Amino acid sequence: MILVLFGPPGSGKGTQSEYLLQTGKFIHISTGELLRAEVKRATPLGMRVANIMEKGELVHDEILMALIKNCLSEISTKHIIFDGFPRTLNQAEAFTCMLDDKDLKVDLVVDFKIDLDQLIDRISGRFSCSDCGFVYHDIYHKLSVEGICDKCHGTKFVRRIDDQSEVVKNRIQQYLSSTEVVKQYYMQKGIMVSVDASNDPETVKLSLKNCLSQAGFDI
Ligand code: ADP
Ligand code: AMP
Repeated sequence: MILVLFGPPGSGKGTQSEYLLQTGKFIHISTGELLRAEVKRATPLGMRVANIMEKGELVHDEILMALIKNCLSEISTKHIIFDGFPRTLNQAEAFTCMLDDKDLKVDLVVDFKIDLDQLIDRISGRFSCSDCGFVYHDIYHKLSVEGICDKCHGTKFVRRIDDQSEVVKNRIQQYLSSTEVVKQYYMQKGIMVSVDASNDPETVKLSLKNCLSQAGFDI
């Protein structure tokens, strides 16, 4: 199954991807994570996109498509979660063609529906383990033991530069102006469903599980 998790920044796509990954059935492609890794390693690509990401703007479609092409060439499993991609109509169309060349298609797109006011609250409390990247929240997803990562026992934590409130506003704006239209594209294909992402993580997880089950994929 090729699954696209669609929704504004902070809607919980990464958190739910983590749950799906625990089933051992999927691999996860988050374009945000891939790009951040390039920035961290200061690769030529990372240096090209760092400034754009810091401002909360969208990275150019051509760069994204090259990144995705590269990922797909290295992957053998057929069950993939795309998180944060596609984010423009151009990306969605190019993605369809790219998959078509491999006799593949997007099977399901899950829209994470959430009131935009909730996003700032979620994003401003987000932090992650600097070793394994596991994501937490100051209030909604605390560490089980203060100062120690539940997943890898790391002790260093980071907050994303682009999670500062001024940048978040820009990211939400980008979502509204460039990304939301992608919904129509997948709706017309009849493969779009939605979950109420404003619920607590366990409830969202159950809704997501339901969506997958109704699409014929049990986890
Ligand atoms: P996205 O990947 O869509 O940007 P994340 O999964 O990183 O979003 O979630 C953003 C923040 O909100 C994180 O700090 C996460 O722990 C928290 N979070 C995720 N899902 C929920 C939820 N259902 N309720 C409350 N907080 C959540
Ligand atoms: P995310 O981790 O999904 O919040 O993405 C972080 C940042 O990476 C975004 O604000 C963009 O600058 C960039 N980015 C990630 N995915 C895409 C995409 N599909 N298209 C354009 N830019 C992207």
